[in-house]
Amino acid sequence: MLVVQKYGGSSVADAERIFNVAGRIAECYDQGNDVVVVLSAQGDTTDDLIAKAAEIDPNASKREMDMLLSTGEQQSVALMAMALNKMGYAAVSLNAMQVGISTTSEYSNAKIKLISRGRIEQELERKNIVIVTGFQGINKYEDITTLGRGGSDTSAVAIAAALRADKCEIYTDVNGVYTADPRVVKDARKIDEISYSEMAELASLGAKVLHTRSVEIAQKYNVELVVRSSLTREEGTVIKGENSVEKILVSGVASDKDVARVTIEGIDDKPGKAFEVFALFDKKKISVDIIIQSIGRGGTNDISFTIEKSSLKNVIQLLEEYKEKLGAKKITFDDKIAKVSIVGAGMATHSGVASLMFEALYDAGVNIKMISTSEIKISVLIDEKDEESALIAIHDKFQLAMQSLRQN
Ligand code: ASP
Ligand code: MG
Repeated sequence: MLVVQKYGGSSVADAERIFNVAGRIAECYDQGNDVVVVLSAQGDTTDDLIAKAAEIDPNASKREMDMLLSTGEQQSVALMAMALNKMGYAAVSLNAMQVGISTTSEYSNAKIKLISRGRIEQELERKNIVIVTGFQGINKYEDITTLGRGGSDTSAVAIAAALRADKCEIYTDVNGVYTADPRVVKDARKIDEISYSEMAELASLGAKVLHTRSVEIAQKYNVELVVRSSLTREEGTVIKGENSVEKILVSGVASDKDVARVTIEGIDDKPGKAFEVFALFDKKKISVDIIIQSIGRGGTNDISFTIEKSSLKNVIQLLEEYKEKLGAKKITFDDKIAKVSIVGAGMATHSGVASLMFEALYDAGVNIKMISTSEIKISVLIDEKDEESALIAIHDKFQLAMQSLRQN
């Protein structure tokens, strides 16, 4: 079998952890498998590098940031190959240039376009264990790019897809994907199986366990994923096609504090105004999430929407500039908010899920500021200070609802 394993930063944080992981890699190799390993930077290395750059220039160019951040992964692959060599295994480390991982040009948020199989396959034929840098690629200018924070998952899945690997295992410091963040919700349970679509939603709605893109690629190329711990032998969570997964009402609850709400007050109630506003953001590549337009009164509307906190300064600046042209009266914002969401494939066919969620929030005395729904998710925007109580209340409510559904 051809197995791709990915180990996150905490799994390779120090020499002891590196040898622990090397042991697991060796075990897989000894079972007769071809093994390709993708690694993240050790521990807090990426954050430390970002801090280092900030000492020089907090607004350093993204090209140079990528040049710098990509060194973290280069350290871990070399160290891992050394550990395996020391244990008597043939291993070779490769970076994105050596493998041929081509990405789009945008620095710090590049997307993988193509992965050459030649070099990796050559090394596998030589019976080497191949250790590849996660998180990085090369663009058409032959510059190093990075894939966004947490992007090593995406490297691993893309490599597994390119090599048509039989297995793709994502090793981390938790036992799998949970129904909620176990540090906040004590009753959170490990999920045994979850569909690609649900996992993609959970990841993009704030569950930190997998990079969203990695799940999208897994779905597109039908790569079955397992998320499990590098520190225990416990079975992890399997992520696979919708049809082979039991449709559960609500699979998980996630929350995201990286959101800000912006409101444009008193825009003229005329065709083309929403277009004008959002075309502006589109041009600047600012992504907008929930959008609500109020019912017009006295010939004007309010439009509220959410964005990532990091774009807030930009967005406010932009809107202040264009305020007059848009015919808007006032721009306001709120960045002390959280987006709490529930995800479940079963909600498409079960009514009453939204009202259960709202009931839980009511019980907990949490006020809802905005609501958005899709086939398999419901999100609410609430005060940041209510995040924890909301998560616990919603999780409790659905745990009870699921028990009673099972009994029926
Ligand atoms: N080292 C990078 C980061 O911390 C990529 C990763 O860990 O997946 O974001
Ligand atoms: Mg990381």
